[in-house]
Amino acid sequence: MSERYDIAIVGSGPAGITAAINAKIRNKKIILFGYENLSNKLYLAPRIDNYVGFHGIRGKELAEKFKAHLDEMDIEITYERPDNIYAMGDYYAIMINGKLYEATALILATGIQFGKPFRGEAEFLGRGVGYCATCDAPLYKGKTVTIIGYNKESIEEANYVSELAEKVYFVPMMKEEYSLNHNIEVIQDKPVEIVGSTKVEKLVLKNSEIQSDGIFILRDSVPPDQLVPGLLVEDAHIKVNRDMETNLEGCYAAGDVTGKPYQYLKAMGEGQVAALNAVAYLERRKLNSDGVSNPTEGK
Ligand SMILES: Cc1cc2nc3c(=O)[nH]c(=O)nc-3n(C[C@H](O)[C@H](O)[C@H](O)COP(=O)(O)OP(=O)(O)OC[C@H]3O[C@@H](n4cnc5c(N)ncnc54)[C@H](O)[C@@H]3O)c2cc1C
Repeated sequence: MSERYDIAIVGSGPAGITAAINAKIRNKKIILFGYENLSNKLYLAPRIDNYVGFHGIRGKELAEKFKAHLDEMDIEITYERPDNIYAMGDYYAIMINGKLYEATALILATGIQFGKPFRGEAEFLGRGVGYCATCDAPLYKGKTVTIIGYNKESIEEANYVSELAEKVYFVPMMKEEYSLNHNIEVIQDKPVEIVGSTKVEKLVLKNSEIQSDGIFILRDSVPPDQLVPGLLVEDAHIKVNRDMETNLEGCYAAGDVTGKPYQYLKAMGEGQVAALNAVAYLERRKLNSDGVSNPTEGK
């Protein structure tokens, strides 16, 4: 059986790390999933003027301060990216490349991806369109796969898929340098639409077309209801109340993923509220298992 955490926090941006710090202060057993640079949006911000106490700070500098705070509190980031999270009734099952983690409460702090989905993306999701190439790579053994890559992780995924698929195209959406296996064909063009009949047939780009059996779109964050089936989403944001509770019991959300304004202090305040309410939820459940109360009492 896998080890069960009190709270799993998905996303290491300002919202996720604030949630982690507050849950740790309350002595909870936590796991924080995210990235070494914490958040691209934080790392890349050229100058921040509305972060109280740090007028004019660069995002990179602020990220370093956040990192130091996590280190001082012995909070480690697990550099893994949950692919699917399932509400199992009294806990959450977090799947990562076939591995399983369990947590009683969940905080989603995955941020949002700017930009609209491509035409056809939602229509063909699960019918050739996917968000996790390594998870589904075996389905495309001997076939043609196109990867639209927004980050460094998409390079690793493309290289892995190229070991199984017959042909891999890579459409880079990032500015940073990358190094791909020699058998991957890079297409420098702008994706426009995904086209098919019962399943994906091709990716239409501004100046070209790629015939493809599968198309993986590897952004920094995936739509939250894809990550957690059953989660209530409205206008692309997770629906929460003032306690940062979602429609799923024991599941909280914080930061850009819950809606505008997209700002650091709003994200961090929500992360704190989410963590404190997740702690209260754990306590109510404990009382319940001692036969004193039930999880929804005393809110
Ligand atoms: C260039 C730029 C400048 C900005 N300047 C300002 C400013 O001056 N002031 C201000 O207040 N705001 C500013 N912002 C907005 C600010 O960056 C966001 O509001 C803030 O980062 C939101 O924090 P968050 O934690 O909700 O999400 P994010 O910072 O987006 O962090 C979410 C993290 O979760 C990760 N993640 C997503 N899915 C998963 C998964 N399945 N598993 C693991 N990890 C996952 C993401 O990759 C990311 O690292 C700026 C944004 C940009 C892009």
